[in-house]
Amino acid sequence: MSTAILWFRNDLRLADNPALQALLRGDFTALPVYVHAPGEEGAWAPGAASDAWRRRSLQALDAQLRALGSRLHVFTGPTLDTLARVAQASGAQAVFWNRRYEPAIEARDAVVKRALRSQGLRAESHDAALLFEPWQVQTRQGDPYRVFTPFWRTALSQWRLPPESEAPRRLPAPAPTSALDEVELDLILPSPAPRWDAGFWSHWTPGEGGAREAMTEFATQRTADYALARDRPAVQGTSRLSPHLHFGEISPWRIVRALESSPAAEREAFVRELGWREFAHHVLHHFPHTPEANFNPRFDDFPWAEVPPAHLDAWRHGHTGVPLVDAGMRELWHTGWMHNRVRMVVASFLVKNLRGHWRHGARWFWDTLVDADLANNTLGWQWAAGTGVDASPYVRVFNPTLQAQRFDPQGEYIARWLPGFERLPAALRHEPWRDPAAVAAVAPDYPRQPVVDLARSRQDALEAFARSRALR
Ligand code: FAD
Repeated sequence: MSTAILWFRNDLRLADNPALQALLRGDFTALPVYVHAPGEEGAWAPGAASDAWRRRSLQALDAQLRALGSRLHVFTGPTLDTLARVAQASGAQAVFWNRRYEPAIEARDAVVKRALRSQGLRAESHDAALLFEPWQVQTRQGDPYRVFTPFWRTALSQWRLPPESEAPRRLPAPAPTSALDEVELDLILPSPAPRWDAGFWSHWTPGEGGAREAMTEFATQRTADYALARDRPAVQGTSRLSPHLHFGEISPWRIVRALESSPAAEREAFVRELGWREFAHHVLHHFPHTPEANFNPRFDDFPWAEVPPAHLDAWRHGHTGVPLVDAGMRELWHTGWMHNRVRMVVASFLVKNLRGHWRHGARWFWDTLVDADLANNTLGWQWAAGTGVDASPYVRVFNPTLQAQRFDPQGEYIARWLPGFERLPAALRHEPWRDPAAVAAVAPDYPRQPVVDLARSRQDALEAFARSRALR
């Protein structure tokens, strides 16, 4: 049997892996390879939290492969040179992989495919990440969608779930050939020091096994009231599958199938969220400039403020004096994740109350989220800033106090992340500035007043908007 390279990227699983299935159908022996080349990801090389996750996920994949009689071969260096070199050294005749949709990666992969083919290798890519590839859903005129609802309606009209495929029972390694210049995972993705991510791992298990567990737990215990519970940050009402989906540790179609026996309304509400993920990838593919630039060019001369470094720092580390914002930013720092409702609130606070450019927020999330995903993060930030496709209108400024009163009525989520607040009544958890002395008694380090006045800064934002070209 001839050898083929199975090039792993953000598809770190063995089940539902179309590239692996195609390789096996072609009667090849798999040489599993991971190439570390962050410089090729353009301005969006993975952040620190992503690297910490990826390291563990690759370790988990290697362990799975070893149990099947194979292992992961790790390399560093320019991707094309590395794949070509490994193919030559191992005698591989083909390279199989699953597609990614980030602009820099799409461009790189197109070059890799052409070059490998011109060297006489079979080079094949597959869809493992999405239910609909970005070019599959189009308007009647053949254009990309800019609004979610019609996008999703068209997508649903083409609904067809790929079949599930289990991991192979054995994956024999190719016969050894000349030595490959492999590297240790620890050298390319060192464990960060100081270990700021140490607290993450009591919340997460990276890898395909962890993804399956998270899916099963969600499907069996938490879908019954998803539509309501998904907005309550104090309860675990959502799937927490986002990092697993980002790293491709589970396929979206397996998740959809796992929910088949859930109540229809709850299942639809959840699948619609997966739909937002599909839409985000559609938008990123068709509008590849949007991680850097406003989707809506009317915002190009919007008067974003120069946020004082102390305010930006207070936002990043959860010391703004606005409890729901601070709780969210601390959840992010300590766990690498933040609840979606709270993401919307902290984003609105940064882009509207502080009037900071959305890119400041997108960058911080990029570095600190374990689910940092160029498509979803760009869509989320531009939505919050009012600059994106199907965005929340700029004039919709979330009031973080009302949001907390509505979605965290007892202030349980706030008290979980702000030490001392568990000893305050709900009213003060929401509005600690109403009794600074009582708050100082239990949370002496907590700011006495918010870094900006909420009503005043909202007004300033609306006035800036009214003066700008974005309104016209
Ligand atoms: P669930 O509610 O269980 O949803 C299931 C899956 O659907 C998620 O895992 C995710 O893949 C997808 N999904 C859910 N909501 C959205 C959404 N609004 N947009 C796109 N996909 C969605 N999500 C990321 O995966 N990576 C990011 O970098 C990211 N950045 C964001 C930044 C901002 C400012 C905002 C407002 C949202 C961002 N999101 C991002 C979307 C959303 O917050 C997360 O996907 C969700 O909180 C993940 O938790 P979950 O897996 O429990 O979600």
